[in-house]
Amino acid sequence: MIKTSQLDSNFKYEIANEPGGENIKRCFNCTGCTVGCPVTEIDKGYNPRKIIRKALLGMRDEVLSDDSIWLCASCYLCYERCPQDVKITEVMGAIRAIAQREAKAGNIKLDNPKPLFDNLFINSVRKNGKWHEAGVSGMFTLKTKGIKGLIDYIPMGLELFRKGKVSILPHKIKGKDQIKRIFEEVER
Ligand code: SF4
Ligand code: SF4
Repeated sequence: MIKTSQLDSNFKYEIANEPGGENIKRCFNCTGCTVGCPVTEIDKGYNPRKIIRKALLGMRDEVLSDDSIWLCASCYLCYERCPQDVKITEVMGAIRAIAQREAKAGNIKLDNPKPLFDNLFINSVRKNGKWHEAGVSGMFTLKTKGIKGLIDYIPMGLELFRKGKVSILPHKIKGKDQIKRIFEEVER
């Protein structure tokens, strides 16, 4: 049941003002994005059309706390197929950005670990110019599974290191300063 008193009619404008969310109001609910979405093949509960519909109706709290907003694999299939050029992949990014801000402000709680991984990944690229697999994976495991989880991960980590798949220290790459400048530019 939808309680109209709990709807936030500004939510669609809030999303539309976020980079990538500009076209959300064009959605006419045709289901084209959901049919063929590879994530729905695996998880029948995932429905991008429904997420957009709820957002347009103003179900702000429900959408921002919905675990499924983190399931989109950014494959851009729906982006290509949408007859209204809603750019769903980007809209999903806009919704996630709002959810992350709200979580940081303590207004909602995010249970899904994906934002944590994304932030560790992005910070690693910003700092090192390329993501440092061992550092990101180690920190992610520590934060999600604790010390015991990290200790359990060590044998696999050593095996990956032995095979040259991960390095203990961050990669040395050229142009780190330019990458830092790209981040600064984007943030500005
Ligand atoms: S394909 Fe586009 S117009 Fe159709 S439901 Fe999905 S987002 Fe809306
Ligand atoms: S971009 Fe996301 S919502 Fe769209 S088809 Fe791919 S996984 Fe599904």
